Amino acid sequence: MANEQLICPPDYHIHTRFSCDSDAEMAAVCEAAITRELSEIAFTDHADFGPADPPGYFRPAEYLAEIERCRARYGDRLTIRAGVEMGEPHIFAQEAGDVLAVGDFDFVLGSAHYAEGLQPVWKQEYFEQPLRQAYEGYFRQVVRLAAEGDFDVLAHLDLVKRDARKFGKAYDGPGPYADMIRAALCSIVERGKGIEINTSALHRGQLETCPSLQVLRWYRELGGEILTFGSDAHTPDAIGACFDVALEMARAAGFERLARFEKRRIHWTTI
Ligand SMILES: [Zn+2]
Ligand SMILES: [Zn+2]
Repeated sequence: MANEQLICPPDYHIHTRFSCDSDAEMAAVCEAAITRELSEIAFTDHADFGPADPPGYFRPAEYLAEIERCRARYGDRLTIRAGVEMGEPHIFAQEAGDVLAVGDFDFVLGSAHYAEGLQPVWKQEYFEQPLRQAYEGYFRQVVRLAAEGDFDVLAHLDLVKRDARKFGKAYDGPGPYADMIRAALCSIVERGKGIEINTSALHRGQLETCPSLQVLRWYRELGGEILTFGSDAHTPDAIGACFDVALEMARAAGFERLARFEKRRIHWTTI
């Protein structure tokens, strides 16, 4: 296990035009990362298979080839990891496995973008039901993902609050959902997986990361060690955004290092 002194925390959640919801060029992202003095990034383009996703947009062979081109061009200044943000890998295990079989992936984010019953939580209709029920439906999916999915780090654990707030709905968590969230965290710890501090809600104008400091503290108390930071950038200017807040939170919760991944094996960076 390598142990290196931190310069600027690695950004392990970044989207490019290989995702269905970004048109960022990978090279532009690399240049932004170098300008901001990040020493390492992981591209994590979306691979989603749900009923509300455009079918077959993620092209892993082309994606990995573009990463190789960026490594050739920027590799002396920036470590570039080949990651993927896999949607509901516990449900779409075959499809997820087919993507990972295409080449050498360094890192897999596991994400719940759909609640139980594959209802898309990024759509306003989802929040037309009683809110308590909407949040429980999301966390039930997270519990299953945490227990069964093939991933390294579970992304934006309480993402549902970001979508809810986007539509002007209040989020009353994490307290009422503590049992489900803690069950998910227990599975993550037992299985040797990790979580991320996702700063996307912050740089989109909301007041909290996903998850919040309270959830991060629970994770730590339950023995959680594996932690990454992710801007969830969909444009180059958002790379590493609000990582000062993430650093403060990680230290406040008792973390002294961040995880990095190479061919899905863990390395550590001191913070
Ligand atoms: Zn996501
Ligand atoms: Zn993402």
